[in-house]
Amino acid sequence: MEFKTVIEPFRIHSVEPLKLTTHSQRKTIIEKAGYNVFNLRSEDVMIDLLTDSGTGAMSKSQWAALQNGDESYAGSPSWQRFDSAVKNLFPFNNVIPTHQGRAAEKILFSILGGPGKVVPSNTHFDTTRANIEFTGAKAVDLVIEQGRNPQSLHPFKGNMDVEKLHDLIEEIGSEHIPIVMMTVTNNSGGGQPVSMENIRETSQLCHRFGIPFFLDGCRFAENSWFIQERESGYSQVPISDIVKEMASLADGMTMSAKKDPLGNIGGWLAMNDDTLAKEARRLLILTEGFPTYGGLAGRDLEAIAVGLTEAISQDYLDYRIASTRYLGHALHDADIPVVLPIGGHAVYIDARSWLGHLSPLQYPGQSLCVALYVEGGIRSCEIGTVMFGLQPDGKEVPAAMDLVRLAIPRRTYTQSHIDYVVEVCLKLKDIITSLPGYTITSEPEPLRHFSARFAPLV
Ligand SMILES: *Cc1c(COP(=O)(O)O)cnc(C)c1O
Repeated sequence: MEFKTVIEPFRIHSVEPLKLTTHSQRKTIIEKAGYNVFNLRSEDVMIDLLTDSGTGAMSKSQWAALQNGDESYAGSPSWQRFDSAVKNLFPFNNVIPTHQGRAAEKILFSILGGPGKVVPSNTHFDTTRANIEFTGAKAVDLVIEQGRNPQSLHPFKGNMDVEKLHDLIEEIGSEHIPIVMMTVTNNSGGGQPVSMENIRETSQLCHRFGIPFFLDGCRFAENSWFIQERESGYSQVPISDIVKEMASLADGMTMSAKKDPLGNIGGWLAMNDDTLAKEARRLLILTEGFPTYGGLAGRDLEAIAVGLTEAISQDYLDYRIASTRYLGHALHDADIPVVLPIGGHAVYIDARSWLGHLSPLQYPGQSLCVALYVEGGIRSCEIGTVMFGLQPDGKEVPAAMDLVRLAIPRRTYTQSHIDYVVEVCLKLKDIITSLPGYTITSEPEPLRHFSARFAPLV
């Protein structure tokens, strides 16, 4: 690129005022919130990097499309537009709308899961894993070794370990593996991409054993951008063709439209198998609704249909990845430890290493989250011992890593917002060794990280 500035390929059309707070106000607010950023009112947050899920800005075309929403119960034209927009990129025979990605997962695994079944993936997202385990089946993560090392610079750290998958199939028998999933990009692994070669090899292996191969396609557009950037033979291939090639290797997919499809809500389940689709539609009616709207209003279907065309725009994706990278590299250049290479939708700070004066059971990630809020009004998300440390037997063990995720909502913050985030992190550098550890004062199970209350250790 000729210029260094990440110019946003849009200008502001309607603004959402941010309430600016002071350091001393935030100290009081976070204390009242039990030192848990999930307990904050969002209006007390200045830069909200809690998640990129459903938090992006819609374009004026999407807002205009809402007015085309046809709320007919069955056979609405909004459904036709949604169905065509999805099939244009993912030409599966059956598209089944749902209110979110997890609803698609719930339906899929209610049919294919059950005790004695094993569902492999590169890395299951937590709702995917939870939906699989809820049926009594086992969820297995088979990401390549480099994907587990925060410092490895492998270009496709989201790749499946195809050899391990092969061994697993041989060991337990294909009849116990009803489906293989592939998460693109690999969210839980740091938003790391999967190569087309790896998708193809995984697909071929599955098909050799007669196992259906599905994509968890939430960040399909970002993954395609990385293929275009890093995989030989793809630098001149348009994003839409890369998406279609990924889809052609799969038998179906689950999707959260709150991610790359640029919706605030929505999702779908898609597949070629008509028998499976018939069963899925039967379950859909029980919880989501009629097959031409799923859990969605006609206007949501319209917004997603338009969002899908914008998600594959080269200018948008160039900006999207560049702006995430901009933040990540600024932190890295300042010797703040981050997971490398920088992924598509978030920057992950290695809090265990940065707050080396705290032991994992003093929750270094939680401490950093609190400090980011108090110093700068920034909301982030602990992904570490608070989230994963509590074992089913009530024992507490350190998680594999203590990370703090700065997730970037799509098209929402400008470069000056991000410069501000960098500045706050630089300021934290000076006081990092004085940040306290935390103890949990109350923790409702399960998923304690959402509502636990903390106190600083003095
Ligand atoms: C968000 C997400 C889901 C679940 O989607 P929801 O819309 O939040 O239910 C599934 N898989 C991945 C990879 C995700 O990022």
